[in-house]
Formats: sequence, C-alpha cells, structure tokens
Amino acid sequence: MNANSTGRAGPKLVIFDCDGVLVDSEPISIAVLRDVIAEAGGPIDEATAYDRFLGRSMASTCEILRGDFGIDITDAHLEFMRDELNRRFEAELQPIPGIRQTLTTLACARCVASSSKPERIRTSLRVTGLLELLEPHIYSATMVERGKPAPDLFIHTAREMGVAPTDCLVIEDSPAGVTAARAAGMRVFGFTGGSHAVPGSLKAALAPLGAETIFDDMAQLPSLVAGTEPAAPAV
Ligand SMILES: [Mg+2]
Repeated sequence: MNANSTGRAGPKLVIFDCDGVLVDSEPISIAVLRDVIAEAGGPIDEATAYDRFLGRSMASTCEILRGDFGIDITDAHLEFMRDELNRRFEAELQPIPGIRQTLTTLACARCVASSSKPERIRTSLRVTGLLELLEPHIYSATMVERGKPAPDLFIHTAREMGVAPTDCLVIEDSPAGVTAARAAGMRVFGFTGGSHAVPGSLKAALAPLGAETIFDDMAQLPSLVAGTEPAAPAV
C-alpha cells in the first residue's frame, strides 16, 4: 500500500471521466446539442445547456428535455447528432493538456468511466492518441441501468476492476459526475481545466458536492494523488 506525506493511503485505482477530463470535447458536444434542440423546438441558451446537461448521457438528456422543456428529440435528431459529433470529433477534438504525461506517470491502476457510448469513447481516445494508454479498461453508462448522477457506473467499474470503492479516486468535471462518485462511496477530485469551465462557476458548483480537491492543471494530478510529493515513477 502506498501512503502519502499525510500518512493517508493513496488510491489503488484512478477512474477518469472522459469528456472534459481526458478530452476537451464539451464545447463541441454542447454546440451540437444546442443545434439539435433548436431544430426540435428550442432554443436553449448555452449557460442552461451546460447547467442541465453537462456530464449526462444522451438518454438522460432526452428525458430532461421531454419532462422539463416539452421538447422531443426524435431518432432522426439523434442520428444527425451522432454523425455531426463523429465528424467534428475526428476533425477538431484535442486532448486535455497534460493528460498524456499524467497517464504515463501515475503510479496506480487507471480506467475510464463515461456517460458516452463505448464507440464514442473509443473515437475520442483514438483521435487524441490516448486509447493505447487506457484500453481495455473503458466503461460506459450503457453498461448499467442508471447513468450519472446515480452511482451505478462507478460501482460497476470498481467491481470489474476488482477494487473496493473506498480505494478508488474519481476525476470528474461535472456536478452529475461528482455526485455519482460520492454516492458510490468514492473519493473525488474536481477538474476545471477544460475549455468549457468558466473560471469560478464550475469550481463553485463542484466543491459543495463533495470534491475534496479542485484542480485545473492535469499535469499536477500525479503529485496531488501522491499528496504533495513529487510524482512517483510509472509502474
Ligand atoms: Mg465530463
């Protein structure tokens, strides 16, 4: 067991959210979503879209649109959205700065748990050159009944990886994700370095939900995990 400078045992597994944590996808995803919502009977402004839909699965987003906004997203809308996201991800998607260095330095097991479908997660990681660093440990909300903010995906991920929830540390950028991690009985760090994170507002939203540390430089993560000590060598 590794212990940091505070004497606290370090995590055995770091669970990364994908969108907004590994890849800088949220500005693209929210823009495409708003286009589809406008087509379906919106519009919804950008701040509302981030506030209500960040970190949620498409199934959950459609439920909220139907229940709270009276907007029905059809199969044709979903197909357009899938094609448009694929096109723009292939052309524009960038990794979060510092993530490659962090993944090669982190001295414990790591995996991905995302609200996106498995194909989209793999596209995102392939386009940004991260897939080889994370396969085959990729888990999607499609594998469980309830997406974030329910704890199901994180509990499923920990079980599959063979690690107790209390030995897991989740890295999340969204209120739904932080809530899900805490509901699963896991430690969680809030990441606010994605280009969608308006300075101040996301930080203010994540801390009260139980994120024990908020950080915006992904290259710092190995040191933060180790408890202010220099990054441990990769294993
Ligand atoms: Mg996210």
